[in-house]
Amino acid sequence: MNIKMNQAEWNTFYDRYMERRMFHLGSKKIFSVLRLKSLAKLYTYFELFFLRRLVFPSVEYVVTTRCSLRCRDCSNYIPYIPPGNHYTATLDDFKKDVSNFLCGVDGINLFGILGGEPLLNKELPAIMEYACGEKRIKHVLITTNGTQMISPELLAVLKKYRNKCSVAISNYTANKELSSILKSWDIKKLLQQHGISCGIDENLSWVQTNKFQDMKRSEDELKAHFKSCDSFAYSILRGRLYVCPLASSFAALKLYESKPSDYIDLTTACTSQDFIDFLKNDCWSACNFCTTSRTEQVKVQPAIQWPVAPYLQKEENN
Ligand code: SF4
Repeated sequence: MNIKMNQAEWNTFYDRYMERRMFHLGSKKIFSVLRLKSLAKLYTYFELFFLRRLVFPSVEYVVTTRCSLRCRDCSNYIPYIPPGNHYTATLDDFKKDVSNFLCGVDGINLFGILGGEPLLNKELPAIMEYACGEKRIKHVLITTNGTQMISPELLAVLKKYRNKCSVAISNYTANKELSSILKSWDIKKLLQQHGISCGIDENLSWVQTNKFQDMKRSEDELKAHFKSCDSFAYSILRGRLYVCPLASSFAALKLYESKPSDYIDLTTACTSQDFIDFLKNDCWSACNFCTTSRTEQVKVQPAIQWPVAPYLQKEENN
């Protein structure tokens, strides 16, 4: 792989890869026991430039865009996706995407399984079995909204791989409107009974989302917006790796025509060069539609529901 970059590319690659890798290595026992976190930095350079190894820090896989809720402030705009654009990955899709991804990197530290609501995917137990059985994936985390009970099949897989997986249960219990459908505490109890690591954020708070729009940003403005972005959650949807979950949702909403530099194609075997080029890119079409503000954030109650799905409201307004 060719790691030569100009200064601007290196700055992006450093923020997007080197720092994240150092952070993960620095949190490993060996470095903390030795109290030599600076060694993690040295090792990151050694690993990339000498061993020529690339370990992807974290990525989220959208196993379905379908959801059992329609949250007004969904940070990934899932409720805006009209039924015709929804996608649910099959086990075969999942295996192909993951194995092609792993052709280009030496491992993945954190592999998130996300939706929509991931438990709506009937093949989730088999998907989890595959993800957890892949040695190059270090940890698998499912994030659920707490509306679907864990099936016996999924429970069996989680139990089998309890040292390598965990479940994050979104805490929407502050929204009393949802109390009849939320099973968050029952899910937690069940998982704990079986020794499966899980968490519910007791003090979950959300920020109000601004609706996406075509900001007509110039290339320089796109780069500036991306530079100020603190989203490091790469997202896989429909056989493509995107720079963030918004980029994958905007693609599902067909807001933009993706250029080859906007994603990595996972339908064929990837190379490490694909990842180097992806991680040094500082200009993304998706950022043109991103209205996320880092400075003006209004806190709101999590999971306030749309009375009517927003794609229907749009049609009504038209
Ligand atoms: S669209 Fe661009 S700026 Fe917005 S969250 Fe994604 S990467 Fe960041």
